[in-house]
Amino acid sequence: MGIRTLDITLLKSHEEALRTLLHREDGSEAAAYILFGTADIETDPWTHQPRTRLISHEVVPITADEMVSSSSVHVTWSTQGFMRLLGAAKQRNLVPGLVHTHPNADAFFSTQDDRNEAELARTAFNKGNYGLASLVFGQHDAIAGRLWTSMKTTLSTSSISVIGRQINIRSMKSEVTETPILARQAALFGKDFNPMIRSLRVGVIGCGGTGSAVVSLLTRLGVGHLALIDNDTIDTTNLNRVHGSRAVDVAEGRAKVDILAREIEAFGLGNQVVTRKAWVGDPSLRDTLRSCDVLFGCTDDNQGRLTLNRFAHYYGIPLIDLGLRMRSAKSGVDYDMAGRVTTILPGNPCLMCLGVVSAQRAAAEGLQRADPKEFERRKSEAYVEGGGDPAPAVVTFTTSIACVAVDELIQGLTGFRGADGMTHNRIRRFDRVEDRAMTCQPLTACPVCDTKVIWGRGDVAPFLGVIG
Ligand SMILES: [Zn+2]
Ligand SMILES: [Zn+2]
Repeated sequence: MGIRTLDITLLKSHEEALRTLLHREDGSEAAAYILFGTADIETDPWTHQPRTRLISHEVVPITADEMVSSSSVHVTWSTQGFMRLLGAAKQRNLVPGLVHTHPNADAFFSTQDDRNEAELARTAFNKGNYGLASLVFGQHDAIAGRLWTSMKTTLSTSSISVIGRQINIRSMKSEVTETPILARQAALFGKDFNPMIRSLRVGVIGCGGTGSAVVSLLTRLGVGHLALIDNDTIDTTNLNRVHGSRAVDVAEGRAKVDILAREIEAFGLGNQVVTRKAWVGDPSLRDTLRSCDVLFGCTDDNQGRLTLNRFAHYYGIPLIDLGLRMRSAKSGVDYDMAGRVTTILPGNPCLMCLGVVSAQRAAAEGLQRADPKEFERRKSEAYVEGGGDPAPAVVTFTTSIACVAVDELIQGLTGFRGADGMTHNRIRRFDRVEDRAMTCQPLTACPVCDTKVIWGRGDVAPFLGVIG
């Protein structure tokens, strides 16, 4: 057993609900409950240590009749509701949590908090709960968090993130020394930008034309931890657009992730890179995916996209998904050339509702992966779609849409385009000079984005609630 670290993700909608519930005009303290989903990461791919991530799943108010007393320095309430919370958490395999405010003080755990919580933690463990989480909302939007891991021991958070259209990650320790390599971007975004970007953990799924450009940009931006996921080796037809690839890589049968890792290392900033040669649905990738702060979806594969679409909702990890549609002109028909960047997170319409993934195609891809012979047979009989001519691809367009995607991340982190955060769905038309934001409504009863049941739900069996 290594040293376990803890981080907490609050979905923006939950953080807002808590701030509203806990605000008192007279400046007195207030409290509420919260239920967390967990990501129980056996081995963080960068630190090789275990990591627990708690993701907010549901806010549970403490009702007025449960309140006993409160002032600017204390709050007490009856434990009836707490017993109900423990029961619900146990039954639904969630982690119970407390939130209280220090309206006029810092976010920290006082000795009074230690005493009170130790008592509540004892009750939680006696009731068979996994643990008891606790958050303090202090002045100036500061948040402190910890998890009682036994009746006597607590684990403090290494970071607390508030995840919505803005990505707000507060790391407790800054591991970074300044480097002149990144000085010019600090000149634009301020001195806090580089420490934040260097503590960031980003997964890139798909390392072809768009993915390699995304990786190249993230590397030079200084993203400290990169996870590259792709199953493929490079071939001659990829050389026109995979950044960093060389003809000799084709001759040597090199994997795309290894080519990109080589380039990252040669850059020399010290970005920590891990590579995984696997398809995104492979169970061996779960620790890697769950350890990320943000994911870029750069695959062409419908089943992979559907997996990431669910994943973003279960774990509150934003997915920035990219796609291109390139059609040549024919007689009487103009070029049709468009790129898309979509941000998927709880609260945004999902990729299914947007109509950019096809469940049918996904099923065909699954068959192709599991039983290539049967896939070919059905394809020859025209029962399945896909596997047709390879799509056209030109480096300027794959790279351009990668820039749109990474700009969206920078917008989420800095708000340079305003406080609204990341745009849900951005379309760039290359055949015209045009960028547009185009969103949609969630389809009624969409099992991913039109229900809060899976938002922040974390680990469930089977993984992501998907059988098979
Ligand atoms: Zn307190
Ligand atoms: Zn949906």
